[in-house]
Amino acid sequence: MEQCILQIALDTPLDFCFDYRWTGAPGASLPLVGQLALVPFGRREVAGVIVALAEKTEVPLDKLKDVLAVRAQLAPLSDTWLALCAFAADYYQRPLGEVMVPGLPKNLRASKTTSLDRALKKLGKALPGHDATPAAVPILNAAQQAAADAIADGVGFSPSLLYGVTGSGKTEVYLQAAAQLLAQHGAQPNPAQILILVPEINLTPQLEGNVRARFPGLAVVTLHSGLAEGERLTHWLAAHLGQARIVLGTRLAILASLPHLRLIIIDEEHDPSYKQQEGLRYSARDLAVWRAHQLGIPIVLGSATPSLETWQHAQSGRYRKLELRERAVKDAVLPTVRLIDMERDKPTEGITSFLISALKLRLERGEQSLLFLNRRGYAPVIACDACGWISNCTRCTAFMVLHKPDRRLRCHHCGLEHRVPRACPTCGNIDIQPLGRGTQRIEESLTNIFPEARITRIDADSTRRKGSAQAAFATVHRGEIDILIGTQMVAKGHDFQNLTLVGVINPDTALFSQDYRAGERLFAQLMQVAGRAGRVARKEGGSPSEVLIQTRYPQHPLYAAVMAHDYDRFASALLAERQQAALPPFIYQALLRAEAKELKTGLDFLQFAATCLAHPGITINDPIPMTMTRVANVDRAQLLVESASRPALQAFLKRWIMVLRATKTRARWSLEVDPVDI
Ligand code: ADP
Ligand code: ZN
Ligand code: ZN
Repeated sequence: MEQCILQIALDTPLDFCFDYRWTGAPGASLPLVGQLALVPFGRREVAGVIVALAEKTEVPLDKLKDVLAVRAQLAPLSDTWLALCAFAADYYQRPLGEVMVPGLPKNLRASKTTSLDRALKKLGKALPGHDATPAAVPILNAAQQAAADAIADGVGFSPSLLYGVTGSGKTEVYLQAAAQLLAQHGAQPNPAQILILVPEINLTPQLEGNVRARFPGLAVVTLHSGLAEGERLTHWLAAHLGQARIVLGTRLAILASLPHLRLIIIDEEHDPSYKQQEGLRYSARDLAVWRAHQLGIPIVLGSATPSLETWQHAQSGRYRKLELRERAVKDAVLPTVRLIDMERDKPTEGITSFLISALKLRLERGEQSLLFLNRRGYAPVIACDACGWISNCTRCTAFMVLHKPDRRLRCHHCGLEHRVPRACPTCGNIDIQPLGRGTQRIEESLTNIFPEARITRIDADSTRRKGSAQAAFATVHRGEIDILIGTQMVAKGHDFQNLTLVGVINPDTALFSQDYRAGERLFAQLMQVAGRAGRVARKEGGSPSEVLIQTRYPQHPLYAAVMAHDYDRFASALLAERQQAALPPFIYQALLRAEAKELKTGLDFLQFAATCLAHPGITINDPIPMTMTRVANVDRAQLLVESASRPALQAFLKRWIMVLRATKTRARWSLEVDPVDI
């Protein structure tokens, strides 16, 4: 009989691996590190990853349980994959099993192996490429060519920032760099794999189409949360077995097993959706850079408005800066950005007369317009003038939002909803009024102003059904829509062909936000949404596309930078401010959050946490209630810790979390490293 002890990482809140006994027939080969194993855990059977083989264990023999099965039919996960997970667990202060296991497809972790065996059999016949004729490859302009060459020729770990204005043809650079690299490393036995990360696949199906059309002979798979379990399993396996040559995925794809990974591309690297906001709160962008470094391969971070972190690395020379200053399509030019002073041109129903004329002009010319307003619903609040009643959520520090089409008041934070009251619940006044404007209200106003126009709204409410967002965008692309109204969902990535006007309804609130990143985000959003206009050649003698921003603060420097399309200057100014104020990226932060029925419980825990350890080189701020203190009847508080040294912060966090884990409290707490929402 062959026997050994396996150390297995399981998805539990406990920060250690578990020992199990494995017994095999005489002469059987031992399990391998990186293989999956099914084990009993409590009353359940769960799957975990074998991280080590041992000869002995400290678990008493009568407590030691047997491994139920080892998934020997599946090639083990590589050492580099295990090391990536170990790094993430260590850096984000989470249990190893929690990093490794939940990201594996459910069908891989199931007790029964029917799905796995079936999928393996299917893949045994090798994943088919698509036999279409390859799409015509555009000839790159000089700047694109230089960028693509620089990426493909990168030796070892070579990070680049592809800094290109909207419409400069970054996608084309990715595709041709990828093609060059695949040509260099295409030969058997280990043909190269390429990982392309995007913020959202469902909103931008264009890219997937482009990739498939460009590489018709190659297996291209997607990895994102919208996949059905069966698809997820085959796609994941295709990546793991090295058959998928291009993997196109959202943030979760950064933890995929890719044994022959040779290039990582991160499109729109500044996008907040690369940050996971619960559980393992990782930054896919940061892990991607680590992974490229670990493997000694090139990585490209592309954006028209890079994150300040990335920008700083490019300025300091750590990342190579590849610039595309012009739009790729001949005669397509960046739109002219203008501000409409709302103090002078008083809006009716939220829209200024200047914007109305501009919309009218587009309708006459048969061109499309886009109105951007980052607030869904009809009105953010309703109120009673007579007694001052206001539609507060009873469970959150937030207002209930009016959703007029369904006649509901809805809390966007806890999901509570009820019917719109006919009269003020406090004084009975029947004249209760919506205050402020969301996308539904703008849609209503526009329908009144332009009854003949074809208007559509795209936001989280209008696109609840699966596939409905894609269908809505398709109508815009087909030219069946004159005016599109939407939230940030419409701002990203779309290559609209006939859009010549972008109106921004009310961006001012972000100027005065407490969140120090609000300015950076607003700037990126405005540049992105502005980038939807004027993407095709301007007609002869035609006027350039326009972006009209309605504001009460036309003097604000942020808007001046947007008007000048001047990210460089804006970023440099912001970086200088951040340095002065000792904010990231000049300082490293971690945030401890605590939630409880009563605020005091959380604050007490944080108070203890603030004082429980000596902390030279670390600044521990005061525990404070979060700005939106109450959500779904739970009070939330936070404690920010900072250090000028990342290693010092990491060392502190390691000791700290041990103490915190051993602390009894009724508060639910979590630690986030490199928080983005403070
Ligand atoms: P970005 O991602 O930088 O905003 P895209 O990759 O969407 O820009 O490209 C914008 C448009 O330019 C697309 O329609 C694309 O097909 C076109 N394009 C890109 N490169 C070239 C080129 N070298 N010649 C002609 N058109 C190009
Ligand atoms: Zn009232
Ligand atoms: Zn609520």
